[in-house]
Amino acid sequence: MTRPVHRVAPATDAPIRQDSLRAHNLILTFQQIVGAQQTPVSRSELAATTGLTRPTISRIVDELLTAGLIVETEPARSGNSGRPRVGLGLARTGPAGLGLDIRADALSVCVVDLTGTVRHLDFAARPHHRPQPEQTLRDLAAMAGDAITAAAAEQLTVVGATLAVPGAVEAGVIRSAPALGWHDVDAGAALSRLIAADDLPVLVDKDASLAALGELYAAGPELRDFVCVTGEFDIGAGLVLGGTPLGAARGWAGELGHVMVDSAGPACVCGATGCLQCYAGLQQILAAVPGNEVSGQPYAVAIDALVSAGSPQIMTALDRAATALGVAISAVLNLVNVRTVLLGGNYSLLTSWLADGIQRELDHRVRTASWTAIEVRPAPLGPDAAVIGAALSAVDRVRRDPNPWLARRRQRAAAG
Ligand SMILES: [Zn+2]
Repeated sequence: MTRPVHRVAPATDAPIRQDSLRAHNLILTFQQIVGAQQTPVSRSELAATTGLTRPTISRIVDELLTAGLIVETEPARSGNSGRPRVGLGLARTGPAGLGLDIRADALSVCVVDLTGTVRHLDFAARPHHRPQPEQTLRDLAAMAGDAITAAAAEQLTVVGATLAVPGAVEAGVIRSAPALGWHDVDAGAALSRLIAADDLPVLVDKDASLAALGELYAAGPELRDFVCVTGEFDIGAGLVLGGTPLGAARGWAGELGHVMVDSAGPACVCGATGCLQCYAGLQQILAAVPGNEVSGQPYAVAIDALVSAGSPQIMTALDRAATALGVAISAVLNLVNVRTVLLGGNYSLLTSWLADGIQRELDHRVRTASWTAIEVRPAPLGPDAAVIGAALSAVDRVRRDPNPWLARRRQRAAAG
């Protein structure tokens, strides 16, 4: 029997070729500028942190400046000599990422630039019905086309797109999205074809993972470990450990909605019984109010209106949802050492009515809660997190490795 061999790097004893070395050094240098975020770095700092020579740094910086990936800024600070040094930061023109989001009650698109700044955000509310894949993808592609045009007017070139979906994804194909009633929809390929842009790659990923990525950027460097629980029709959990979203870009993680909270509970759309979603899905919360008509209204808006109207049924349903969420989230926190729970997506809008009930369960059920406080709070980006995270993941491809972008520019220049 032959056992599988797992390699972490290509098995080769060949020396690194000169062009590979140049590409590697360019990534190394660019990563220092990306990592510096809002604080521009000087050429001499780049030489010190990368270990590359000043002439090599100068050549790479010139290449990045010419390609429009970085800009020179005002002298940011003085070195030991007291001489002002020219800072280098990421450009706000050039490559950009396109985020696309299909929810049960809305479509949205977003463009972010290389610095991670949102430059365009568009949202279209949809009536609550099972959307047809073909028409939905056509509508989304039209919104994407408008976003690409708006971006071009600001000298931004969309280099890639990521679609966030409320379901399980495998290699660009939506395998199962109960919120949409979709199965085996090749959304990535369809959108690539429908969006009027040259060879625009469209990746597809789970909304909860992308929302966690968006919230990671928004939270800033002080928050590196958290779980972001998003509530729509489906309930997802995006886990971030040490500043890295877990399971992101694999599209098959964070199905918190199908964690069991009561084995004797009602039947779930997944075929099991007593799943979290049966108690805390927004549609299930709304269903607790008899005769409630919410057509055309986003779920969270409809729930908010019922709370404002003093509906006792909605308060009972929210309390039950909070308890169930607390039970399911405590299972996550007992597995990983995370102290911060962000309520994301539409849950961010309902934090006032959910947080106390969740906190009560976490304090009771998480083993470490008696000596380390657990914080439950609304996620800053809320319902926009998934589409912003999707756009960030698209532009991250250039942030991680700008060589393909540079090669494409060289090809276009050669073609005249
Ligand atoms: Zn289920």
